[in-house]
Amino acid sequence: MTTSPSPIVDEPVPRPRRWGDAELRRLAEMVGQDSLFYWKGPQTTALTREFQSHYPLRHVFPTSSGSAALHVAVAALRLQPGDEVIVPPITDMGSVIGILYQQGVPVFVDVDPRTYNLDPAAVARAITPRTRAIMPVHLAGNPCDVAALVALARPRGIAVIEDCAQAWGARLAERPVGLEGDLACYSFNDFKHVSCGDGGIVATNDEARGAGLSKWGDKCYDRVGGGREPAELAPNYRMSEPQAAVAAAQLTKLNALVATRHRLGTRLTHALRSVAGVLPPETLPGAYHSYWFYFLRLELGRFGVGRDAFAAALRVEGVAAGAGYIVAPVYRYPVFQNHNFFGGHWPVRDSGLTQMDYRSVECPTAEAILRDGITLPINEAMTDGYIDKVARAIDAVAKRFRKD
Ligand SMILES: *Cc1c(COP(=O)(O)O)cnc(C)c1O
Repeated sequence: MTTSPSPIVDEPVPRPRRWGDAELRRLAEMVGQDSLFYWKGPQTTALTREFQSHYPLRHVFPTSSGSAALHVAVAALRLQPGDEVIVPPITDMGSVIGILYQQGVPVFVDVDPRTYNLDPAAVARAITPRTRAIMPVHLAGNPCDVAALVALARPRGIAVIEDCAQAWGARLAERPVGLEGDLACYSFNDFKHVSCGDGGIVATNDEARGAGLSKWGDKCYDRVGGGREPAELAPNYRMSEPQAAVAAAQLTKLNALVATRHRLGTRLTHALRSVAGVLPPETLPGAYHSYWFYFLRLELGRFGVGRDAFAAALRVEGVAAGAGYIVAPVYRYPVFQNHNFFGGHWPVRDSGLTQMDYRSVECPTAEAILRDGITLPINEAMTDGYIDKVARAIDAVAKRFRKD
């Protein structure tokens, strides 16, 4: 990568030290245990307590990944083959993997052009008699309007699974994300705000579904009653004690780390409001964005260059800008375009249980966001001064390329 001889951002991206004494203390305690199994494990218990201090949810099951947590949540709904789950098209594959393994049908619904999150009006139009769940994703840490989705879902007996993988620490109206829906899922993968390498959590206040959570991620074994004769099919998605030890320690740092990211992201948004042609992300009233990353859009008609050239010019000025987020909406991935889910086949479609054809799905707003969006890293090691340089660089590049 070439930077200009005197880039506006004249320092490398600051990198936080993510693991330290808190993790070492937990790991030292763990090494003295005689078992590293999750069930009644001290580290898993500590992780559950720490999680519940942030998210007051009664039933908690730590999993081997965020995708696993989402699969467990979907399994807890006991879908029938061909049942539909509404999802946004700008998300991680982890949102849809569990739906497909449970023989459900992901139904992609368009997003809001300013928050990039599921548009409740579009969701309302997509509900059919087969809709069993809605899965909002709090993209990049920006809280989605879950209350509006719950208002659509509850009267129809539809469940809401909140994908909070990117939204550790995000809040709406003073309440952390994950409490409004029926089930909430979180990720500890290496790139998330807090991490134990890989891991996840699924949690709920729903008594009926909560009691069975561990079953859906632990081979359908009954750890409570001791039963080992599975009544149904379930994978092994258990988290073990080493991961739980690190994850528990990580959560003690969550509030401080998110407060810094929130301050930095908000500062960048304020600075960018005066840059014509650059559209910072918008948040719902009362939303506390936790900035897993920063996602802005360009009004491409106002610039003499395309998005990729704009992002390249930012990099020359020392900004770690990414051209877009995922390369295409999830339904455009080959696995969906070819309906290639199980050895080149999709049994629920082959047997007539769904008419879904992903080649004819179109979500124009999601496509536009991925065409004109630019992503920027935000992390807790950055300072106000660093963010001010990033804002100055964006302003300078916008001035250089603006036509009006
Ligand atoms: C990271 C992520 C997941 C999956 O998490 P893994 O731990 O990587 O399996 C699911 N959904 C979203 C929106 C994510 O960002």
